[in-house]
Amino acid sequence: MKNLKIYNSFSRELSDFTPIDPKGEYIGMYVCGPTVYNEVHLGNCRTFVTFDIVYRYLLAKGYKVRYVRNITDVGHLEGDVDSGAESKIDQRARLERLEPMEIVQKYTNLFHDVMRQMNTLPPSIEPTATGHIVEQIEMVKEIIGNGYGYEKNGSVYFNTKKLIEENKGYGTLSGKLMDDLISESRDNLKNQDEKEHPSDFAIWVKASPTHIMRWPSPWGVGFPGWHLECSAMSTKYLGQTFDIHGGGMDLQFPHHENEIAQNIGACGCQPVRYWMHGNMLILNGKKMSKSDGNSIMPREMFDGSSPLMTKAYSPMTLRFFMLQAHYRSTLNITDDAMQAAEKGLQRLMEANEILLKLKYSGAEALTELDGKINQLIDAAFADMDDDFNTPNALAKIFGLVSEIHKFQNALQPINSISQATFDRLKQIMSALIFDIFGLMDEGKTGEGSTDLVDGLMQMIVRFRKEARDNKEWAKSDLIRDELQKIGVQIKDGKEGATWGKI
Ligand SMILES: [Zn+2]
Repeated sequence: MKNLKIYNSFSRELSDFTPIDPKGEYIGMYVCGPTVYNEVHLGNCRTFVTFDIVYRYLLAKGYKVRYVRNITDVGHLEGDVDSGAESKIDQRARLERLEPMEIVQKYTNLFHDVMRQMNTLPPSIEPTATGHIVEQIEMVKEIIGNGYGYEKNGSVYFNTKKLIEENKGYGTLSGKLMDDLISESRDNLKNQDEKEHPSDFAIWVKASPTHIMRWPSPWGVGFPGWHLECSAMSTKYLGQTFDIHGGGMDLQFPHHENEIAQNIGACGCQPVRYWMHGNMLILNGKKMSKSDGNSIMPREMFDGSSPLMTKAYSPMTLRFFMLQAHYRSTLNITDDAMQAAEKGLQRLMEANEILLKLKYSGAEALTELDGKINQLIDAAFADMDDDFNTPNALAKIFGLVSEIHKFQNALQPINSISQATFDRLKQIMSALIFDIFGLMDEGKTGEGSTDLVDGLMQMIVRFRKEARDNKEWAKSDLIRDELQKIGVQIKDGKEGATWGKI
């Protein structure tokens, strides 16, 4: 009915999208969210922008979507449990002299700030792993009850051998064979002697005395395995089988492979109808790596402090840049490419402004140009239906941009298209640019009109001046700080205070 095709990374084929809901109305989508012990990096931003486009496009097609994106705030272990390794959150807490939950809150807030700057829509539910310990313990019990889990010295492991012997497809998603599963298992180094099979993985981990984030369970004090939270929370909010599960390609193994194993172990069914994986973002042709100095944080991109970029690029330039590649292709970020993206975005926004100002006067007769414009619009949607092909859809939109410029330069009269096509063009340009691609005109702040924002800002600047005149420094600083939080900077000059976006 709705012609959408999605590349399913589980079956490795492009297939027609059919929702599980018999009426075809409701869709459940789960995307693995961030681990909140440091700032979200640019590669993660790409993944979240990708699924924001998926979410926006499904909404535009009229589906009712429940979009769940979790926050991983349970401290998981790096390396060998027995060597006294700390969880990443515990480690960060000690380093910054904060409570683990302060670390979680701080980086969750920062993550939300970046997501807001990138104009991603908030998910319908954003569950935290620490808020779902009960559900995770219940799932471990179910897995043990069904014979897919076993307890050893206060930890519980998933029995992958049983799944493999029963031919239930452990390794199908990642396409890994037994040898890879064993050698690449994330838990490989940990408590190897406790596991019955090398590819088994922990679903509940006994807490070492130094582990801060810990909860009581039937198997003693510990914390859930990393993969478990997504199985437990997707089941709780979307049911045992739901429509779309997304995440970065790096999560395919072991995370998603193990999610599938846990769901089969607990409920006996495949959890997901369509698995979608976003590809990597690389920088200057190489994998991003902090230790090699080949890395940029979103903040550095926006404030221009990265030595790898010649200047600051706005969040919308970054978003536009990401739209220029298909989500399943790797995307190479370079300064040149960002400059080109900046120009492209500007050209697009200008064309839309021109279009809004054009006054229609003309005939209703259909012409060749009329057909061309309608064809470009239809083709842009066909591209989006083809596994969310944003670069191809953008190319069609730029075809429309050229036509709009010709109208403006009087190279073609506006009455060479019909009123209906003119109205459609206006409506569709705005729907594609703002609603589906989620771009914002950075000349305007947010959704409101410029006049409204200007008026409000003048009022705020006046309040601040009054506070300063009365030497109420705390109040004037508060106004400045609160504005800074939403990306607005006040500068004091001879002519009075001015304001601008950071
Ligand atoms: Zn996950």
